Amino acid sequence: MTDEVRLSLDEVHALTFAIFTNHGVSDAQAQALADVIYAAERDNCKSHGLFRVPGYMASVKSGKMNKAAEPELSELAPGVLRIDAQNGFAPLALQTGRAPLIARAREQGIAALAIVNSLHFQAVWYEVEALASEGLVALACVTAASYVAPAGGIKPLYGTNPMAFGWPRPGRPPLVFDQAASASARGEIMLHERDGHSIPEGWALDAEGNPTTDPTEALAGAQLPFGGYKGAAIALMVELMAGAMIGDVFSFEVSARDNRDGGPMARGEVMIAIDPARCLSSGNRDAQLAHGERLFEQILAQEGTRLPSDRRYAARLETPTSGIVIPRSLHDTLMELRG
Ligand code: NDP
Repeated sequence: MTDEVRLSLDEVHALTFAIFTNHGVSDAQAQALADVIYAAERDNCKSHGLFRVPGYMASVKSGKMNKAAEPELSELAPGVLRIDAQNGFAPLALQTGRAPLIARAREQGIAALAIVNSLHFQAVWYEVEALASEGLVALACVTAASYVAPAGGIKPLYGTNPMAFGWPRPGRPPLVFDQAASASARGEIMLHERDGHSIPEGWALDAEGNPTTDPTEALAGAQLPFGGYKGAAIALMVELMAGAMIGDVFSFEVSARDNRDGGPMARGEVMIAIDPARCLSSGNRDAQLAHGERLFEQILAQEGTRLPSDRRYAARLETPTSGIVIPRSLHDTLMELRG
């Protein structure tokens, strides 16, 4: 018996949906979550694919997640929408806000969506790509829990606070980058721990504040921001925008109130969508996007470069036929969770 299991993408979706609905999670919540897990596996983003399902399930079992949550949409200003996720998972909240946000951005040129009380455990590119695929420029950021030391400090304070950006491209999937404000996503450290690998230098400090390459020590200590004080400033901005600005919590407040079940915690997220053609007096979207393409051509003309998201898009061409592979231990856990 090999220590890996191969699944088709349809199996990934069906398994995820079954696990959650078998535990009483509403079809709408489970469907939106399965879509996100499917997309992560399809794009070879292992840290946010099936690997996350046991964590999501922990929050279902502990009662932290509201299994029947129906996200509530409201308008705070002509260009500002709000979704209260009601302590449900983020994917349904994001799905609920997507069409209204797109419509507002097209009407007004720019619009924001504030999502509160959402259990967020997913990669942020998923939603940004959806907006950029509709021709919008998109920005999103979300807080996390207290994992990352501020510049010069040694104790966790900020979340890993990812920020994603999307830019539409003519006739092809959008350019998207999605990066944590920390040197690595926390899920990456967990994967290194699971697989018995050390982590690169510069990712974390141990509990005493010493640099470490041991993933277990890193998880007990503090992650480091990317690029020193510059990444820390991004983490700070995300705290303010997805916390104080929209009336949700900071990452350290998330940690303070968490029940430690290992699952995602309720917090805030901000999305901003811009109709790029409304930023030009000519409104000539074709010329605008063609101009963007010239920049991408210049980047790719240099040896050793690629565009952010190209790795995901390459995986996306393969996995529908190749399927995806997960460790047998994870597969066993998922089968047990499915019941
Ligand atoms: P990475 O460092 O792996 O990648 C960051 C970005 O850089 C990606 O868009 C990636 O594109 C791009 N990139 C990587 N290498 C290159 C290269 N050589 N040239 C050009 N672009 C490149 O991501 P992180 O570890 O920072 O974050 C991983 C994920 O974790 C993110 O999706 C994030 O949303 C998620 N996350 C979620 C949290 C949550 O609470 N929900 C918290 C923290 C992180 P590509 O994908 O094509 O490789």
